[in-house]
Amino acid sequence: MPAVPILKTEALVLRAIEFSETSLVVWLFTRDHGRVHVIAKGARRARSPFEGALEPLVRAEVLFYRKARAEALETAKEVDPIDLHLGLRTALPRMVRGAYLAELLAAFSEPEVPAPETYDAAAAALALLARGPLSGLDLALARCELAVLGGAGLAPVLDRCARCRGPVFGEGVDRAWFSPGAGGALCLAHGDGERGTAAVTRDGLRPLLALALGREVDLTAAPAFRAVRGLLDAYVAFHLGRPLGLARRLEPVGPPARARGPGPRGGARQRTKR
Ligand SMILES: [Zn+2]
Repeated sequence: MPAVPILKTEALVLRAIEFSETSLVVWLFTRDHGRVHVIAKGARRARSPFEGALEPLVRAEVLFYRKARAEALETAKEVDPIDLHLGLRTALPRMVRGAYLAELLAAFSEPEVPAPETYDAAAAALALLARGPLSGLDLALARCELAVLGGAGLAPVLDRCARCRGPVFGEGVDRAWFSPGAGGALCLAHGDGERGTAAVTRDGLRPLLALALGREVDLTAAPAFRAVRGLLDAYVAFHLGRPLGLARRLEPVGPPARARGPGPRGGARQRTKR
């Protein structure tokens, strides 16, 4: 009888589902094998060898046995955490965005289809969501979302008309269309009739276009946040046939707290102590 192959890869835990009294079925987004569903035997026992390692959004090195039959589950052998991303649990905006990313990765990853670039983008984004400044969370998430869409072959066309490849906005014209079904922006002449097509202004398209071109965008400003989220949410919902559950939980974080105006500062406090 041939030996069962053992595979080793890095992975992000997407979700863990109770399978039996002692076992979990865990969805992993792996760097080398795309999405993999493993059974973690004994994971629900006290003092399990997997303890703490199978929480959603943990990044880990995973060893698993290759399944014998196509319909079977892989079996987890070892899960060695690289990053628990504990910061995600310290603030609701971090947690919601992390959970949204897990939902997005589960939806757009495919079993046995390696997507190392998407994996690397997701791992980098999770580190920022867990530990980066709050003011940068939405930038990290939207960048990663574009990477996930690109990895799935669905990168939206934003810098030209997705139909005629001409300019999206004509001279002196600030209106165009955004059509998830057509694959992105459409010039005024080409937006008719496509399901899900909505009008978009030059200002409305600009922040997402800047992101797609790799530029810095301040998404703490509510108009830019809403412009980016509105287009991404519509795009994702169209291609999945449903909106992601957590999309409506995403709210702008707001600009970083500024130093307060005139008020008691260090020196003043010291004086009042005396
Ligand atoms: Zn056109």
